[in-house]
Amino acid sequence: MIQAKHISKTYGTTNVLKDVSFSLAPSEIVSIVGPSGAGKTTLLHILGTLEHADAHPQTELIIDGKTINGLSDKALSAFRNDSLGFVFQFHQLLPEFTAIENICMPAFIKGTSKQAAEKRAMELLDFLELSNRAKHKPSELSGGEQQRIAVARALINKPSLLLADEPSGNLDSTTANKLHDMFFNLRDTFSISMVLVTHNKSLAARADRMLTLVDGQWS
Ligand code: ADP
Repeated sequence: MIQAKHISKTYGTTNVLKDVSFSLAPSEIVSIVGPSGAGKTTLLHILGTLEHADAHPQTELIIDGKTINGLSDKALSAFRNDSLGFVFQFHQLLPEFTAIENICMPAFIKGTSKQAAEKRAMELLDFLELSNRAKHKPSELSGGEQQRIAVARALINKPSLLLADEPSGNLDSTTANKLHDMFFNLRDTFSISMVLVTHNKSLAARADRMLTLVDGQWS
């Protein structure tokens, strides 16, 4: 699902990632842990094509069979919207839109019809036990519900890969555990691969593999 080789990232004179390689199998869930500032978010952003790795001749990034190096910004945006799902610590739902409108947004960007997008959104809402919240605005939802809506939005275009950065960082432990259960249910049902950056020990330990990043390198 992901083959990333010799990934380095430098900001100014700071070497944030130092020749990191990473691979992810289809349907695999990998957690990435490590101290603050280790480079976890930077690596996740590079794997999600939100940032570029430093240009080195040996650097390689292949996601879902697609070679990322050299794609134009426009091609990258389309690839991201069609093939990748993102969940962040703060849900980043648009406050003026309802849950279902938020979920459908990436599908509309892709050109999916309203009818087809809403059908898929309702299936996801059903799966995430939120069918009765479709018409609510984010401010009318609990933190856990908002985050599950964000997960549904990430999945509307049927990505094969979900990337999450501290997805439960803002939730109490009961709500966090419910969200974690959903990640594993989603993987088992839809065969989605996941990379989860987390400080949550129980989520990290439940992953198929747990990797530790320290000072820009695997430890
Ligand atoms: P983590 O997710 O493990 O906490 P990050 O990837 O967020 O670590 O950050 C790693 C290091 O890179 C930190 O020292 C951070 O300050 C630095 N960094 C991250 N993004 C930028 C940026 N856009 N410009 C400069 N430095 C950055």
